[in-house]
Amino acid sequence: MTAVMDRDRILDLFRETGAMLEGHFLLSSGKHSDRYFQCALLLEHPRKAETLAQELAQRVRSVHTQPYDVVVGPALGAVTWAYEVARALNCRGLFTERKGEEMELRRGFQIKPTDRVLVVEDVMTTGGSAREVIALLTRMGVRPLATGCIVNRSGGNPFEQDGLPLFALADVNVQAWDPAACPLCKQGSRAIKPGSRPDA
Ligand SMILES: [Zn+2]
Repeated sequence: MTAVMDRDRILDLFRETGAMLEGHFLLSSGKHSDRYFQCALLLEHPRKAETLAQELAQRVRSVHTQPYDVVVGPALGAVTWAYEVARALNCRGLFTERKGEEMELRRGFQIKPTDRVLVVEDVMTTGGSAREVIALLTRMGVRPLATGCIVNRSGGNPFEQDGLPLFALADVNVQAWDPAACPLCKQGSRAIKPGSRPDA
């Protein structure tokens, strides 16, 4: 089977649900950006989440024909996403949690070294959270087979050197600037924190 949703269709879903904000944003990194993704606003629609997960599953299956056993993603962002992808792949869906600095598998969740594991994030910004999940799996003697995400804004595959393919539904090049170099600031607008309302 071939992929049925192209990048434009996926970005339309983000626009329709208000999950892709276009404007002038202050990111947690301190940089300013013209776009911000809030996947929770898309994933709050179960049917849409299901459609995206099926699309990802189809792309994974087209390369990895052997069934997966586990999909795992970091809380909180990837909890529902990992669950939906697991449903689409007909396997278990787990999430990891941070306790202080450490990423942990809690609640009695178990992954065996023989399990075929897919690591997912909703938005892959630098791949940092997925990398923490992979490090945790490695400590457990588990070697994941691939990573997956809805939006990849990392500009490539952060796990290429680890030999892990990245299945991304949409690669998006998001511009980010240091405040001093921000063209939107120069035009006179003010950056807002995503999630907060712009000043009237
Ligand atoms: Zn700015």
